[in-house]
Amino acid sequence: MSTDAQSVAARLNSAGFIRSQGFIGGKWTDAYDGKTIEVTNPATGEVITNVSCMGGRETNDAIASAQDAFVSWSKQTAAERSKCLRKWYDLIMAHKEELGQLMTLEQGKPLKEAIGEVSYGASFVEFYAEEAKRIYGDIIPATLPDRRLFVLKQPVGVVGAITPWNFPLAMITRKVAPALACGCTVVIKPSELTPLTALAAAELSIQAGIPPGAVNVVMGNASDIGEALLASPQVRKITFTGSTAVGKKLMAGAASTVKKVSLELGGNAPCIIFDDADLDVALKGTLATKFRNSGQTCVCANRILVQEGIYDKFANAFSNAVSSMKVGDGFGEGVVQGPLINDAAVHKVESFLQDAISKGAKVLIGGKRHSLGMTFFEPTVITDVKSEMLLSREEVFGPIAPLLKFKTEEEAIRMANDTNAGLAAYIFTSSIKRSWRVSEALEYGLVGVNEGLISTEVAPFGGVKQSGLGREGSKYGMDEYLEIKYICLGNMS
Ligand code: ADP
Repeated sequence: MSTDAQSVAARLNSAGFIRSQGFIGGKWTDAYDGKTIEVTNPATGEVITNVSCMGGRETNDAIASAQDAFVSWSKQTAAERSKCLRKWYDLIMAHKEELGQLMTLEQGKPLKEAIGEVSYGASFVEFYAEEAKRIYGDIIPATLPDRRLFVLKQPVGVVGAITPWNFPLAMITRKVAPALACGCTVVIKPSELTPLTALAAAELSIQAGIPPGAVNVVMGNASDIGEALLASPQVRKITFTGSTAVGKKLMAGAASTVKKVSLELGGNAPCIIFDDADLDVALKGTLATKFRNSGQTCVCANRILVQEGIYDKFANAFSNAVSSMKVGDGFGEGVVQGPLINDAAVHKVESFLQDAISKGAKVLIGGKRHSLGMTFFEPTVITDVKSEMLLSREEVFGPIAPLLKFKTEEEAIRMANDTNAGLAAYIFTSSIKRSWRVSEALEYGLVGVNEGLISTEVAPFGGVKQSGLGREGSKYGMDEYLEIKYICLGNMS
């Protein structure tokens, strides 16, 4: 391990931030067969720790603990649940440096970005601590004089939350905070690549007074854990962020017990730069949405569509800006691009680039593995990209910015919508009329106008088409964890 990473790991370990066991019913628990898996630092390849490699049996016990805890947690008052969540938020924020360091160690993102994610992740806990107190029902005017009609909102029950490695904290809090706020309890399965942040957050949840069993964490054999969550009739809801392929499997698997499902799946975000855009605003926004987390987010611009009148100017300025981005270990001074998560991610990027180049695309800058080795990749700008290339059709999930040229607004909208995905889209224009017209025409769940970073706890996040089901964040995010009950009182006259 690099000296920096080594000393950070040692400090976090002695402060109790590196947990290696699963968390079931408030107890740190080994895998029942004693198996472990390595968690490595993608910047150095070195092992940070070995965590329990769990499967179906441990998951079933975690579900049973969550079911037990549900009985009392769901009966607490909203104010009591709110206080626990608020305390959890305070503890996460009090330890944002340590959590950020842990995240950089296991995920690779630059420390500043990691600490930013801790604040972002914590913001969901704070928001839902407040929202817990606003689960209102309804009184419906009755259709008969002797009746009274009510609508009551109640927690769905035990929630299975399966999360990816690219946001090791925020993808968890965005699910777990509203679930807890509603009175649900959870079994979390973080990515095996980044379980340490999840485990540290679970420890803080106990310190915050969230009762044992309300938050459980199991990791290890993903498909065994997934099967146990899907098969259990006690798990009433599956919430997932990850690949479209796994999301489809989970949706199919949830059918046998008719669970509620929310899915945040892959995107193929278009970023459309019109001739009338403010070049500086477009540059700043496009850089932010493309290169955040080294291109490894589902809302990263995947296709940059540039109108012909501004194309050359934009391509030059964009390439210049990209060439000055510092790549390196996330603990390094001034680093804005960390490593990719693993070799498979680098292979994907390389194969997409090869496909594009073989079909006529040209690399403006970058285009290969970085001289730092490991999974570092040069921030890349590639031009003459066409709709039929893999780069246009699928999410590259890496630091590759493909530029595509268009002539008219209609053509841009057609190109943007020509995909099965529908998560985020971005447009850059100085025309208010155009910004409305195009926002309405885009088949996407989120649209950024003259802005590349649009996610916030107060706004609904989620996709259309094959990018998913349901919304996270905001007041709408509560509905995913609530059932609506209609109560009819008769004979009331
Ligand atoms: P990514 O390519 O971003 O890693 P995945 O969809 O493979 O996306 O992973 C997202 C999460 O889903 C991870 O926690 C992973 O372990 C989990 N996962 C993968 N396969 C399954 C499965 N068959 N059942 C349940 N969870 C799964």
